[in-house]
Amino acid sequence: MAVIDLRSDTVTLPTAGMRAAMAAAEVGDDVYGEDPTVRRLEERAAELMGTEAALFVPSGTMGNQVAIAVHTRPGQEVIVEAYSHIYNVEMATMARFSGVQPRVLAGERGVFTAEQVAAAIRPPLYYLAQTGLVCLENTHNAMGGRIWPLSEARAILEVAHGRGLPVHLDGARIFNAAVALGIPAAELVRGFDSVMFCLSKGLGCPVGSMLCGSREFIAEARRVRKALGGGMRQVGILAAAGLYALNHHIDRLAEDHENARLLAQGLAQIDGLSVWPPETNIVIFEIVRGPTAAELCQRLKQRGVLAAPAGAGTSPRQIRMVTHLNVARADVLRTVDLVAEELRASRM
Ligand SMILES: *Cc1c(COP(=O)(O)O)cnc(C)c1O
Repeated sequence: MAVIDLRSDTVTLPTAGMRAAMAAAEVGDDVYGEDPTVRRLEERAAELMGTEAALFVPSGTMGNQVAIAVHTRPGQEVIVEAYSHIYNVEMATMARFSGVQPRVLAGERGVFTAEQVAAAIRPPLYYLAQTGLVCLENTHNAMGGRIWPLSEARAILEVAHGRGLPVHLDGARIFNAAVALGIPAAELVRGFDSVMFCLSKGLGCPVGSMLCGSREFIAEARRVRKALGGGMRQVGILAAAGLYALNHHIDRLAEDHENARLLAQGLAQIDGLSVWPPETNIVIFEIVRGPTAAELCQRLKQRGVLAAPAGAGTSPRQIRMVTHLNVARADVLRTVDLVAEELRASRM
């Protein structure tokens, strides 16, 4: 029985076409700036984001943390949302590496307002921590792949820039937002001072993320990446996977969104479940009556379906299922049937 793995879109496996591109990649030493494939990937990423430059980094976490290090000075504050990845799942790295503290704003399902940001920016009193950066997350992972409303993002950019503050976008899944809205990613990230997006999630690469911004920002980011041990050598082998994904795996994200809708619709028919309507490829549902999330995940695992309790401090009765490249429509239908069976069985 083939396992249906809905824990995350990070579990995606490189396709045959991607592996062929990797095997054929022209490479050089990227620390010397001599890997042509990395150069091409960085140019392509910058083009797609509408920025001057881009940098290949080993992970999304490194991309976000390099951005924080470049934008801030020790002793400052970074405005983040309460359920954001940067605040919850990056091991307090902004504190240990950049010497800054998070200023946490509670969003409404992951989204805070320009008014909240305006109120949280510190006045220039010498005895107060000074705000150094604002971070947004689009799509919002812990809040079920929610798309950050463009008008609110623009209002926040205006407030922050008006106070001389940079804004970083954790756009790990920005292409999911772009495809779902039918708006080019460059349009969604216009005005941000830096953007990180992941190649290793729904785009299906084995490794890697891109950090995008101005030439000046990326030059400094390259230094910080090296300081973190992120200088890589013949890494064009991995960059080739990224280029392949940017050319072949963006539009197909629509299939993942369609499968997520189908999954949510099926789950919503099951007695005892409350399902968040998905906006992209992440479905979160709550077990209102029945076992805990951990128990249901355990039962599903025995039937060949992997899912995970929802993370980032959300409720112990919530489960997250993520659709991706290696999940077919039939897998979704089978998952709905198995969840229904296991919930019924758990009540007997
Ligand atoms: C996955 C993710 C990251 C970090 O990416 P890694 O490559 O796992 O370090 C950052 N932000 C969000 C929103 C993510 O979903």
